[in-house]
Amino acid sequence: MSVTVVGAGVAGLVCAIELASRGVKVEVIEQNSSLDQNACSWFAGGMLAPRCEGEIAEPSIVEMGLPAIDWWERHFDKVERRGTLVVSQPRDAAELKRFARRTDGHVWLDGTQVSELEPDLSGRFNTALFYAEEAHLNPREALAALHKRLVELDVPIRYGVSMSDSTLGTVVDCRGLAAKDKLDDLRGVRGEMLLLRLSEINLTRTVRMLHPRFPVYIVPHGEGLYMVGATMIESDSYASMSVRSAMELLGAAVALHPAFGEAEIVEMGVGVRPAFPDNIPDVRRAGDVFYVNGLYRHGYLLAPAMAMKVANMITGVGHNSGVLG
Ligand SMILES: Cc1cc2nc3c(=O)[nH]c(=O)nc-3n(C[C@H](O)[C@H](O)[C@H](O)COP(=O)(O)OP(=O)(O)OC[C@H]3O[C@@H](n4cnc5c(N)ncnc54)[C@H](O)[C@@H]3O)c2cc1C
Repeated sequence: MSVTVVGAGVAGLVCAIELASRGVKVEVIEQNSSLDQNACSWFAGGMLAPRCEGEIAEPSIVEMGLPAIDWWERHFDKVERRGTLVVSQPRDAAELKRFARRTDGHVWLDGTQVSELEPDLSGRFNTALFYAEEAHLNPREALAALHKRLVELDVPIRYGVSMSDSTLGTVVDCRGLAAKDKLDDLRGVRGEMLLLRLSEINLTRTVRMLHPRFPVYIVPHGEGLYMVGATMIESDSYASMSVRSAMELLGAAVALHPAFGEAEIVEMGVGVRPAFPDNIPDVRRAGDVFYVNGLYRHGYLLAPAMAMKVANMITGVGHNSGVLG
């Protein structure tokens, strides 16, 4: 059997690795000429944070996400399993309590414990939540590593090639939001992000700062680079970041640590997350086409589970499909 995976975002690359690892003959086609023109995966924070996502996500997301860190560690040697720190300003302490009530897998820390974990936050927060199981990665390095792994597995990746109705055989459609032409209920959720560079402080794990209106997270991407994200706007617009979003993200970063006020703004990016109405990803089937989509804000976290599901369907192990009418 041979399979064409369409789309070299995180979903397509992870699906291709899973299928190729099971001995299926696979090729990947991607309409863009390189990974950095990607619609969504390029702009991600790279959090592998199933416990924290439980704050707003269904329990099934937490369950599917927990094994993902192991998957990534098997395929990418730069996964940072250093946990997630969740803090708030003293006036937003109720947010921290609410977050704790809605999630599992945390311990409460006092100010001393916060500074032991992140010395540069010393004296800034006298209480925090810590999710020790969680991890993060630099998504751009991770995509490059997946690409390299596919080359090692002899999987051709053809850039500048678009899927058409004449794409033959078994197809795994991982086109993200572009698959809206076939998946009526798919919608876009716009996410704006910043990349900042600064050398004055060194944060080593994801830090989430809660706020009643604009919660933010900061993910260290290495070498003084920090991803600050992200807005969640019901829109499929790829227009540049708005002034309001920039002010909110930057204001929150500076509130976390004033050193961010001196940081260099390296990039202001916009990705549009593909989401189904319930924000839960799925594999749907129509004839020979399998749609892997709806990864919403969990592409890195849930691509391994979705890849396993579609590979099971294609190779005949398990039959948990949603069949399209
Ligand atoms: C700001 C932001 C922060 C995020 N942070 C996180 C995070 O910390 N952790 C996490 O797990 N997730 C995060 N996400 C979510 C994650 O990025 C998405 O869920 C994921 O990128 C979706 O991946 P995908 O492969 O389905 O789609 P995409 O990344 O959009 O990939 C689809 C690919 O298909 C290609 N394509 C489209 N049409 C065709 C065609 N006709 N022929 C060939 N190729 C085609 C596109 O060019 C594209 O490369 C974040 C998202 C955003 C926007």
